[in-house]
Amino acid sequence: MITTNLSLRGAHRATWQSHLFRCIHGIASLSLAMTALLYAATVYAEPQHLTILHFNDLHGHVEQVAKLAYEINKIKAENEKKGWFTLVFFGGDLISGTPVSAKYKGEAEITFLNAIHNDASAIGNHDFDQGLDKLVTNMNNSKFPHIAANIYERKGGKLFVKPYIIFNPAHSLKIAVFGLSHPGTPSLTNPTNVATLKFDQPIPVAQKLMPKLEKETNVQIALTHEGVKKDIELAENVKGLDAVIGGHDHVKAENYCNEVKSIPVCQTPPNGEALGRVDLEIDGNKVKELGHELIVMNSAVENDPAVSAIMNPFISSVSKEMKEVVGFANEALPHERDARGTRLGELISRSMKEYTGADFGMMNSGGIRRGLKRGNITRGDIEEVLALPNIVVKVEVTGAEVENLRNHHSESSSYMEWSGLLADAVLDPHKRYTIATIDFLANASPELKKGHVVQDTKKYINDIFTEYIKREKKI
Ligand SMILES: [Zn+2]
Repeated sequence: MITTNLSLRGAHRATWQSHLFRCIHGIASLSLAMTALLYAATVYAEPQHLTILHFNDLHGHVEQVAKLAYEINKIKAENEKKGWFTLVFFGGDLISGTPVSAKYKGEAEITFLNAIHNDASAIGNHDFDQGLDKLVTNMNNSKFPHIAANIYERKGGKLFVKPYIIFNPAHSLKIAVFGLSHPGTPSLTNPTNVATLKFDQPIPVAQKLMPKLEKETNVQIALTHEGVKKDIELAENVKGLDAVIGGHDHVKAENYCNEVKSIPVCQTPPNGEALGRVDLEIDGNKVKELGHELIVMNSAVENDPAVSAIMNPFISSVSKEMKEVVGFANEALPHERDARGTRLGELISRSMKEYTGADFGMMNSGGIRRGLKRGNITRGDIEEVLALPNIVVKVEVTGAEVENLRNHHSESSSYMEWSGLLADAVLDPHKRYTIATIDFLANASPELKKGHVVQDTKKYINDIFTEYIKREKKI
C-alpha cells in the first residue's frame, strides 16, 4: 500500500512505478492491483482509468473479427461496471491479403470496424493499395476518424485527413490521439496511388503538435503506422507522450510492447491474431501505465454473434466464388518450394507475357506457393498457388541485364521461371528487351531496377493467370 500511496502523490511516471507494473500481465493480477489503487484513490484523489484496446495490420482477415469483437465487447462491459474508460484503436493496414479484401476492397473491414465502434484509425501504407479514391470512399463510410498529422496534399499543402481527435469521456478528462503514417509510404505501396500526397517525417510533426495538445488535454497518445523502430525513436524524442500505439512490422506476440522512457510503445501481431490491451491511470495531467497484456485470439475465444451475422455474408460470398471452376489441368502441375523450371512456372510467366505483350515473362519460383492437381482448377486453387498480392508490370532492360538475371538467379535460391527465353537463346547485350513480371521483383531485383517500368497493369497476378486459364480452358 505504501508504494501505491506514493505513486499517487509521487513524481510523474517514476521508473520504479513502471517497473512495478511491468510485471503485471494477467487480468486477475491487474484487477487486484486496481482494487488497491482505487482504495488509495478514495484517500487522496480521484484518478481515472483508461483501457486502450488495439490491433493493427488486419490485412483483410475478416474470419478473425468475430473473436476480436467478442473480447472488445467483454472488456468494455467489464470496464463500464467499474467506471473505467475504454478506447479502441486500429493501427493501420486494414486491407490487402485475402480474397474477401480483394473482392470488396475494404468494405468488409470497414463494416467490422464500424460494428465494434472503433474510435480511431491510423493510415497504413497498404490502405492505399486499392487507389486513393477507394481509400477516400472507405474513409467516408467509416463512423470513426482516420487520422494522420504528417500526410499533406501536394497541391495547396492542406492536411489529407484530421491530424488528431480529442475524446472527452468525463468532465475533467480530455484525451488527445494523433495519427502518424510511414514517411516511406510512396515506396511501400504503388507510388502512383500516393502521387498527390506528401509524407513528412513523424518526429518533427509530433514535436510541433505536442505543446498545443498538452495545453488542451490530460493525455496524449500517438496512433502510428511506421514500425517499432520509428515508434521507439518517437517516444525517445517527443516530450510528454503517454503511449505509442503502432503497426506495420507484423511483430511476434513476445514483442508486443517496449517500455521507452517509462511509456508503453505497443504493436500487436498481424491478421487479427491478437488484441492488445494497455491500462493507464490518469490523475489530472499525470499519466502512468498500470500494465499491458496481449490477448491471443485462439480457439478458446468465442465469436460475437452480432458481428458474425454481419460478416458471414462477406465471407460466404467469397467461399462460393472460390469454388468456381476456371479450367482443367490435363496433367498434374507440381511445384515444390525449391522447384526449378516447372511447367506451372512457365505457364504463370507466359500469362504475364501474353497479357502485356512483353518479350519475356518472368516469375520467382518462391512466389508460387503450391502446385495444381490433374483435374478441375478452381478460383480457390489459384488464390492458394498465387497467394501474395503482386501486381504485374512490364519492365524494359538491356540484353546484358536479361543475361545477368538469367545467370544470377540460376545460381541463387530465388530461381526465376521464364517464358519466351530459351536456355540457348543469344541476346544482343545493347538491345532493349521487355520483361513481364511482378512489381515485387521490379522493386527488389538490382537488374530490373536498372531498367524502367513501361507498363503498370494495376492487375494482380492471380487475376491475370485466372484469365489465361479461362481462355485456354485446358492447360
Ligand atoms: Zn504497413
